[in-house]
Amino acid sequence: MKFGGTSVGDPDRIERVARHVAAAKAQGFKVCVTVSAMAGETNRLVELTERLGGGDVSRDPDYDAVVASGEQVTAGLLALHLRHKGHAARSFQGWQAGLRTDEAHGAARIAHLPQDHLMASMERGEIAVVAGFQGATKDGRISTLGRGGSDTTAVALAAALGAARCDIYTDVDGVYTTDPRMVPNAKRKPMLAYEEMLEMASVGAKVLQTRSVGLAMTYGVPVRVLSSLGEPEETGDGTLITSEEAMMEHEVVTAVVPSRGEAKISLLGVPDTPGRSAMIFRLLADAGVNVDMIVQSAARQNTQANMSFTLSEKDLHRAQEKLTLMKDAIGFDNIDFNQNVAKVSVIGIGMKSHAGVAAKMFEILAERSINIENISTSEIKISVLIEADYTELAVRALHEGFGLSGTPG
Ligand code: ADP
Ligand code: ASP
Ligand code: MG
Repeated sequence: MKFGGTSVGDPDRIERVARHVAAAKAQGFKVCVTVSAMAGETNRLVELTERLGGGDVSRDPDYDAVVASGEQVTAGLLALHLRHKGHAARSFQGWQAGLRTDEAHGAARIAHLPQDHLMASMERGEIAVVAGFQGATKDGRISTLGRGGSDTTAVALAAALGAARCDIYTDVDGVYTTDPRMVPNAKRKPMLAYEEMLEMASVGAKVLQTRSVGLAMTYGVPVRVLSSLGEPEETGDGTLITSEEAMMEHEVVTAVVPSRGEAKISLLGVPDTPGRSAMIFRLLADAGVNVDMIVQSAARQNTQANMSFTLSEKDLHRAQEKLTLMKDAIGFDNIDFNQNVAKVSVIGIGMKSHAGVAAKMFEILAERSINIENISTSEIKISVLIEADYTELAVRALHEGFGLSGTPG
């Protein structure tokens, strides 16, 4: 069982989390719980590291030493409260549970996860409460798994322990056809295929960390997304994320996913010779900048090309700086950037065997006079880049147009 930040956001909510855990125990399960920091705590800690570390220090081991502390607090508090209520329980920090990661501080990957300590605790009849988001490197330094990383802790623990299921409790009662905070008539999906959830997470639906879904798919861990905001007996079925084979039918489009916080860089007049793209993207990769939606088009002169790509808004400044420094070496004429962009994606496993989804998507946007700047696709996803001001309009129109809306209220 995993409980996110809102679910452990105050003492009353931690008490309710304990009731959820006790209810699972009463059903006869051996329970391992992982918790996030209290809502807002990780942001507060990140801001402190920026203030005192002189900017973005998210790759520094001492950044991890600071931001991992939020989860240590909630794990301890939940174990204390469970015992106060008469249940055997103990807390584990990531390293105490044996969660070892690589050295990529701030976004570390899990390298090893021995289950012995946790199993032993659960065999003794205890509820094992593990601090999410954190582990340790082989040198014994504290590491963290990237924002939203408690989801990944939860799935990794479920896989290592051979759990029947991984239940992710959050502040919505399942995964919806789009962000329910943006579109009130969005519908909860009773089931989703791993692949669909993976695409949804990777294009920006923050309900689960992308890596947690990848892990669940690799190890075949069934994941349920549920709400912790009601009492245990009020908990509905949530959303079950499982293998494609386990699903009866596939809709063509299952979800519309908005993503803000995007930016676009265009390089104009790049010499059209082998090796230029390699230079540009090596430079960005070495600077730790992730790029997406790459488009290259012929410029007016056929010895030149224009190149544009999207990236996270927070990396824009760094990318721009690096590219400007290398302007002559790369040989482009001009660099342009735009922060006022957003990505909107439609996702559905049924797209694999269904033509015309792109045409329909573009028609729906055209009817609202929304201009498409970049496009990218995968087998089960189409993403477009549009002006940020039109995000909500586009999401609502696509949600309606692909028949995902519930009965209008
Ligand atoms: P937690 O703190 O429990 O990890 P998150 O804030 O990371 O919770 O994720 C839950 C949030 O994800 C919801 O409050 C919701 O606004 C957002 N969200 C975005 N897209 C979706 C979606 N398609 N279905 C459900 N929730 C979504
Ligand atoms: N507390 C961490 C974060 O806010 C990890 C998590 O909640 O999953 O990113
Ligand atoms: Mg989260």
